[in-house]
Order: sequence, then structure tokens, then C-alpha cells
Amino acid sequence: MVLIPVRCYSCGKVTGNKWERYQYMINEEGKSSGEALDILGLKRYCCRRVLLSHIDLIDKLLEYSCGDEEKKEFG
Ligand SMILES: [Zn+2]
Repeated sequence: MVLIPVRCYSCGKVTGNKWERYQYMINEEGKSSGEALDILGLKRYCCRRVLLSHIDLIDKLLEYSCGDEEKKEFG
């Protein structure tokens, strides 16, 4: 389980409740990180960094969990 900081370290804005929506926009809607952050209202660089730094972390974690590729044949 990855823990997201509940608030921005610098300005105290709540960020923890935005993570799921952020992930959804990136993964399901194909938005860029910048677009997703704008939509979430994280305009300040300090707040954006909170989420962005976690993406780095999660990317690294995902490298270890990639393994089983499910192959389906049709027809
Ligand atoms: Zn902030």
C-alpha cells in the first residue's frame, strides 16, 4: 500500500484525497500530469510536487510487479 501525504508539506493544502482522481485521469483519460494537476486545482508548484514525487516512487514500485502478462486469443 502506498501512502500519499495528506497535505502539501509547504502550504498545507489537502492533497491526499486527490490521488485517486489523479491516477484515474492519467491512466483512464490519458491526461498529462500537468493537465490532471490543473484540473485538481493544484496550481502551486509546491502542491504539484507532492503528487509528482509519488509518481516517481510508484513507477519504481511497478517495475517490480510487472510480470504476468495475460494473453488472450480470439477466434
Ligand atoms: Zn502547496
